[in-house]
Amino acid sequence: MATLLARNAEVLVTMDGARRELRGAGLYAVDGLIRQVGPAAELPSTADVVLELRGQIVLPGLVNTHHHLNQTLTRAFPAAQDAGLFDWLTAQYPAWTRIDAEASRVSTLVGLAELLLSGCTTVFDHTYLYKNGNSVDVQIEAAGEIGARFHASRGAMSVGRSRGGLPPDEAVEDEESILKDSVRVIDRFHDPCPGAMTRIVLAPCAPFSVSADLLRESAALGRARGVRLHTHLAETLDEERYTLERFGVRPVEWMDRLGWVAGDVWFAHAVHVNDAEIARFAQAGCGVAHCPSSNMRLASGIAPVKKYLAAGVSVGLAVDGSASNDGSNLLLEARQAMLVARLERGLRRAAGEQRRGDWMSAREALELATIGGARVLGRDDVGSLEPGKCADFFSLDLGAIEYAGALHDPVAATVFCAPTRARLTVVHGRVVVEDGRVVTLDMGPVVERHNRLAAKIARG
Ligand SMILES: [Zn+2]
Repeated sequence: MATLLARNAEVLVTMDGARRELRGAGLYAVDGLIRQVGPAAELPSTADVVLELRGQIVLPGLVNTHHHLNQTLTRAFPAAQDAGLFDWLTAQYPAWTRIDAEASRVSTLVGLAELLLSGCTTVFDHTYLYKNGNSVDVQIEAAGEIGARFHASRGAMSVGRSRGGLPPDEAVEDEESILKDSVRVIDRFHDPCPGAMTRIVLAPCAPFSVSADLLRESAALGRARGVRLHTHLAETLDEERYTLERFGVRPVEWMDRLGWVAGDVWFAHAVHVNDAEIARFAQAGCGVAHCPSSNMRLASGIAPVKKYLAAGVSVGLAVDGSASNDGSNLLLEARQAMLVARLERGLRRAAGEQRRGDWMSAREALELATIGGARVLGRDDVGSLEPGKCADFFSLDLGAIEYAGALHDPVAATVFCAPTRARLTVVHGRVVVEDGRVVTLDMGPVVERHNRLAAKIARG
């Protein structure tokens, strides 16, 4: 039995049903699961690991609902810096097809380290290129090594340029092998139990790179095996034009016809949707991974997040792939979500649309980054600090410059004032970041190796 006691936090944000924020509080965990949350006097006085959190704010570990960790190898890629999605993808596909198992392992470690350092403890990764021995296996191994809770996708692309898709033919796989490998990784890795550190998601890439057959077959397999489904959708107007021209319908209608608008599905982006499509998402129970930085970076548009929330659609936050953000700081992403929702409000008002109650607050942004993301991933065991839930949390130092002058509301300041680095991050009761450094792995050599591999991949 491994016990952990974290105590005396200045403020502990529970994200429980009552959204309690406790002063001078902490938590006690046994074998990675929370037993008690409350003031020090009510908690046990000792444990195997004791963490003193005086002067710190504690929050539930953040949940990232969409990423492409391998893209850390092509961040700020010169040919893709000032381009919209389709040109941006086309500029990078050749480099990505050169990613091998080692490059995948190292880039997964780098991306996860960056997320853990920003307080993110649960990560969904959407990898869809498996060439040169790259596999789901190496990523899951890397996540275990560094200590992140990991939802890995068996993503895929199957429609290359010669068949009307966007990616080059050498980047795609045949559908039989994709489905065969999907079955293999579900058998080998998927853990449906509460507290799971590893889950599998089936994630054909996007309407312009996979076939109707693969989408149908993946949905059938996912449902037969209790595995969730994910894809990119309605990210850009180029994509909308593509499905209208090729399939005669808008992206959401295309997915609906294939059985993909359902409660076990969440979509990345979902920027270009109309009110009827938002209502359809709400009715079906599918979720949205909101990626504000990426949507701004690629000039894709602004997702109608306040409308989603008003309609009852589950929304989580995501940094998106490392090459379209180009950072992996989920705490900053919460701030971007708050700011871009306010920008959207301003633009609508400027266009003459009057709406009430559509400010996104700092606390609402934190909800998206925690409990909202957990819901999108289909988890009720992470995203809040309550007895029975996983001991996934992080702390920030309230003595830091970023909080100076903002201590009348440290919770709101965590979003408004842009603190960037967790002091402590704990996943399933294991300390992975301490004093603002990853402690499960020596990151220096990993970064050095990553830079060498990135140069090699870019060179070709
Ligand atoms: Zn993406």
